[in-house]
Amino acid sequence: MAKRFVRAVFPGSFDPITNGHLDVIHRGIKLFDELIVAVGNSPSKDLLFTLAERVEMIKPLVKDIPGVSVQSYDCLTVEYAASVGATAMLRGLRNLTDVQYEFQLAMTNRAVAGIETVFVMTSEQYGFTSSTMIREIARLGGNVSNLIPQEVFEKLQKRLAEIGTKQERDNCIE
Ligand code: ADP
Repeated sequence: MAKRFVRAVFPGSFDPITNGHLDVIHRGIKLFDELIVAVGNSPSKDLLFTLAERVEMIKPLVKDIPGVSVQSYDCLTVEYAASVGATAMLRGLRNLTDVQYEFQLAMTNRAVAGIETVFVMTSEQYGFTSSTMIREIARLGGNVSNLIPQEVFEKLQKRLAEIGTKQERDNCIE
């Protein structure tokens, strides 16, 4: 039987991309012929970076991984996946809270669009890393340089300086 070509999408907000996301990408591409990191618009989230900025941030980080590319989309994730001919969605799991949420999402996506979701578990060291947490810690002046790539850290510092953060204030008392 001829080998089937499997294209998958890895959808998310990636605001910003973290070492945890990159870990999922490296594990995921071993399972598929092609993997598209799909950056969603997510207007309901309190985002730091624009869609275009998030895409441009990811591109250099995956350019040397064969089979991996980056795209943005602004519609229902399953519609986007179908439009690029993807037959699977990749998602990362960190803990049981993720399992509960992702289970519901995967069941819904399968019910409405017939698309399968493939999960990979992150490395232990990234089990607590989330973009939301990184945005919050960085906004309060904490050091997140171990959790995100250096280039992303620099862009995050720059963005926070532009919008003004606690880092520029002298102490913790309001
Ligand atoms: P969303 O906006 O859909 O929550 P995210 O950009 O936060 O998107 O995450 C995209 C995917 O990456 C989700 O499946 C999420 O569970 C997974 N993910 C995020 N951070 C990590 C991590 N540290 N380890 C493993 N998976 C992760």
